[in-house]
Amino acid sequence: MTDDLTRRSAADLAARLDAGDVSSVDVTQAHLDRIAAVDGAVNAFLHVNADDALATARDVDARRAAGEELHPLAGVPIAVKDVVVTRGMPTTAGSRILEGWVPPYDATLVERIRAARLPILGKTNMDEFAMGSSTEHSAFGNTRNPWDLDRIPGGSGGGSAAAVAAFEAPLAIGTDTGGSIRQPGAVTGTVGVKPTYGGVSRYGLIAMASSLDQAGPVTRTVLDSALLHELVGGHDPRDSTSIREKVPALVEAARRGATGDLQGVRVGVVKELSGEGYQAGVSARFAESLDVLQGLGAEVVEVSCPHFDYALGAYYLIMPSEASSNLAKFDGMRFGLRVEPEDGPVTAERVMAATRGAGFGDEVKRRIILGTYALSAGYYDAYYGSAQKVRTLIQRDFAAAFEQVDVLVSPTAPTTAFRFGEKLDDPLAMYLNDVATIPANLAGVPGMSVPAGLSDDGLPVGFQVLAPAKADDRMYRVGAALETALETRWGGPLLDRAPALPTTELEGMSR
Ligand code: GLN
Repeated sequence: MTDDLTRRSAADLAARLDAGDVSSVDVTQAHLDRIAAVDGAVNAFLHVNADDALATARDVDARRAAGEELHPLAGVPIAVKDVVVTRGMPTTAGSRILEGWVPPYDATLVERIRAARLPILGKTNMDEFAMGSSTEHSAFGNTRNPWDLDRIPGGSGGGSAAAVAAFEAPLAIGTDTGGSIRQPGAVTGTVGVKPTYGGVSRYGLIAMASSLDQAGPVTRTVLDSALLHELVGGHDPRDSTSIREKVPALVEAARRGATGDLQGVRVGVVKELSGEGYQAGVSARFAESLDVLQGLGAEVVEVSCPHFDYALGAYYLIMPSEASSNLAKFDGMRFGLRVEPEDGPVTAERVMAATRGAGFGDEVKRRIILGTYALSAGYYDAYYGSAQKVRTLIQRDFAAAFEQVDVLVSPTAPTTAFRFGEKLDDPLAMYLNDVATIPANLAGVPGMSVPAGLSDDGLPVGFQVLAPAKADDRMYRVGAALETALETRWGGPLLDRAPALPTTELEGMSR
């Protein structure tokens, strides 16, 4: 096995730290060096937090040396999507309107990461306010897919997925409103998990659509996601939608899955999430994965969820409606950017208009206009009201399906990573990326994407596992079983097959 600390899983690094084989300073420095070497090409990070990360690492090493009892992930570095607020560290949500804003507080999940003493490497790039599927809507430039630098890393959390795929971080945090953890996971060959709605606190997440948003892990292995999910998950009194029950035993479920036993597990293939519109190589890898699950003892059946066909339409009314309301607070008075009108009187209203005009990008403006329209008095019932009814029907589809099976599965995304610019001028084509991930957000159920191999174009394909609300452990078991079986077949992790990245001389950034 390689000595390169950046190639190791978080679980492996944690074990080596615990055994005293390596120090957190070594591990953290190795990742900062990797960021300095490859992030010029990848552009996964908007902010690198080198000094503070190394200070945390030194502190962990001192505490370990003194025999202090530490969290299992103490000293393992992590990257955080820039939509999550971090005290003393710039937070932009990928938008000009927040440029220069440094939050005065930490999100609950960041508090938990800091309390467990994971060095925070920095903040990752994203589509502006998490709106998009390619990270091309970031105000701060594209993040590139480590598998092919001319292609998108998915979105909105392309930065977190690319950082993990490029071995710049072993762990990262993403957020998923319609697929922004899972779809980037699929197209970068990484693991991404959207927990049950309310499973990870939303306190300190810059809200896009509050009834859909959920933070979760971005990693290279299913076990690493379980470790991180258990760390950041669990009740938070500061989030009124936070689940009170304990998080299920996810690490245990992942370990059990990795033994390869799926006897008695009923797997439902969602009929509506396959066939037309799915790239041939995506469908082929999906079918092979089903065979693998069957080989491990799972019973695979087809299940119909008829209202999933309307999920995308309902999402693109509910999400912009909530976003138009959530984004009203960016008015040039409270946070970041403030622009005064070029001529005429400087009234509050005119400053707000000038600030929002200059600070928001086109996609954000498009959704604010759409959401405001859908919520307006004369149209509310026709648009927002109908979408909410569809949402209920989708929840009922899930409930009926989970009477018959333990988990539901589908390809995570209809295609592999596309080229920059390919879908930028066609919002509908961009929105279609999330056709398979959106139903889970509308119903609040958990979802995971696991690498399923490479399509004919040599690019990664994701396999999605969905479970009932509060039964996140089921997808960890199935995901780990699939991962272990496929890696045995491939002779190692999928990411070992990614091309080497161009590196730049180490300078400045981390030293
Ligand atoms: N791509 C979807 C959108 O643009 C989902 C985004 C997300 O999950 N944050 O809305």
